[in-house]
Amino acid sequence: MNYYRINTAAPDQPEASLLIIYTGGTSGMVMDENRSLVPFDFSHILDNVPTLKQFNLILDVVSFEQPVDSSNMSPRHWVMIAEIIEKEYENHDGFVVLHGTDTMAYTASALSFMLEGLEKPVVFTGAQLPVSSPRSDAHENLITAIEIAAARKNGKAIVPEVSIFFDYVLYRANRAQKVESKHFDAFSSENYPPLAKAGIDIEYYHPAINHEKSSGLTVHKKLDDRVAVLKLFPGFNKVVAEKLLSISGIKGIVMETFGSGNAPSDSGLLEVLENAVNQGVVILNVSQCVGGHVVQGQYATSQTLKDIGVTGGEDMTTEAAITKMMWLFGMETDIDKIRALLSTSLRGEMVNRK
Ligand code: ASP
Repeated sequence: MNYYRINTAAPDQPEASLLIIYTGGTSGMVMDENRSLVPFDFSHILDNVPTLKQFNLILDVVSFEQPVDSSNMSPRHWVMIAEIIEKEYENHDGFVVLHGTDTMAYTASALSFMLEGLEKPVVFTGAQLPVSSPRSDAHENLITAIEIAAARKNGKAIVPEVSIFFDYVLYRANRAQKVESKHFDAFSSENYPPLAKAGIDIEYYHPAINHEKSSGLTVHKKLDDRVAVLKLFPGFNKVVAEKLLSISGIKGIVMETFGSGNAPSDSGLLEVLENAVNQGVVILNVSQCVGGHVVQGQYATSQTLKDIGVTGGEDMTTEAAITKMMWLFGMETDIDKIRALLSTSLRGEMVNRK
């Protein structure tokens, strides 16, 4: 890892001290000889965003030795980010993670679970256009993400949770999804209000922001990847589910169902699911709809899922559901406890019914 300090306006009394973690993504990419975008080192961003030097902040930077396109992100990289935050937690007031947009919602959701007792901002951001492009969104996204990570009131961080800032909006990380690959408004959070909006001022929606009661940061680094996502569609062949659920060692499935959590009443599929549940595989029901939530029992087509022991995932995104599963299987072995935790809001990732 390469650490260095940006030569900012040399504050004698800095407002805050931040660490920028550069992992890769379009914001720092350049064209290679085949005219494909490839990740580049952080110095490229610095050259292109000289405004960074004007901040009355201590700005440290650490860059992945090999920045990655976020399609190549894996739990190993999530752990690398978590370890940097753990190591630097006491030295900094907040963190900005520069990341590709494609899988940002997965990484940021995973981090929201891995960082228990977080009391400092961890703001993910990136860009749709490389920073070297005159119309790049990287400048605005990075500059405002830095302001948010540094924002404090009465000595306390205003947004002490894992978030995603993109195109003038701050989202809770585990509520956000990438919804747009062309326009600048790449993210959306259909089931939870924005934490802030940036205009002339940055307007914070304080009631929406999570302040965890914490006795210090605990970083969970064990993740279990014996999980999968199963998306239903009309005409779904139960043999696919049968094969998936009989993979040796499989522990959990996030099943994307229709509407408010409904699945075909085809007895073959239900039998396959029931057998898996009885063998200890956890099946979590989330909806293919981006808005609204799963209500197992509202329709007969979801009551059966409830009856066979499928766990309702309320209004969780698939990104939050799969990373929450990986994290829970990494630290828990008691299946009943895992099922109960999956249907409980732990980091504001789902509606809290308790
Ligand atoms: N492919 C890029 C990535 O996710 C896209 C981006 O950064 O927006 O790394």
